[in-house]
Amino acid sequence: MICPTCGKEIEDGALVCEYCNQEFTYEEEAVEDAAKVEVVEDDAVVANQPSKVLAIIALVCGILSLAGNIIGLGILSPVFAIASIVLAVVYMKKGGVDGKKMAKIGMILGIVGLVLFVIVFVVSLVVGIGLVIFATATGALEDILWEVFGIRM
Ligand SMILES: [Zn+2]
Repeated sequence: MICPTCGKEIEDGALVCEYCNQEFTYEEEAVEDAAKVEVVEDDAVVANQPSKVLAIIALVCGILSLAGNIIGLGILSPVFAIASIVLAVVYMKKGGVDGKKMAKIGMILGIVGLVLFVIVFVVSLVVGIGLVIFATATGALEDILWEVFGIRM
C-alpha cells in the first residue's frame, strides 16, 4: 500500500510507516483494504499544519474587504477580498485544521465584500450613465455644463 502521509510504497497492513513513522489504524475486517487506512492524529500531522497566522490574515482581510465597502476604501476592498479568499483556500488546501473556522469566515466575508463591491460599482455606473442620459434628454446637461463649468455645447 501507499503511505498517505509521505506517499512511499510500504508493506500492506503495516502499523507504522518505515519512512516517516506515521502510525495507522485499520477498520477491523478490512486490514488489507488500503483505502480504509485511517491516519492517526499525532505530532507528525500537527507538524505539517500550515501556520495559523495564514487563517488569521485571511479573516482580517475578509473583515477589511467588507468594512471597506462601508467606509469607502474603494479599490482596496476587492483587493482585500481576493487576498482573503486566496489565503483561506491555501490554508485549507494545506490541510489547516486549527484555523479552519477563521479561514472559512474570512473567505465568506471576502466573497460578500467582493459581491458588494461589484454591486455598488455596477449601480454607481448605471446611475451615473442614467443621470447623464436623463440630463442630456431634458437639456439639463447643457445648463449644468454652462453654469458649473462655463462650457457651451
Ligand atoms: Zn510514510
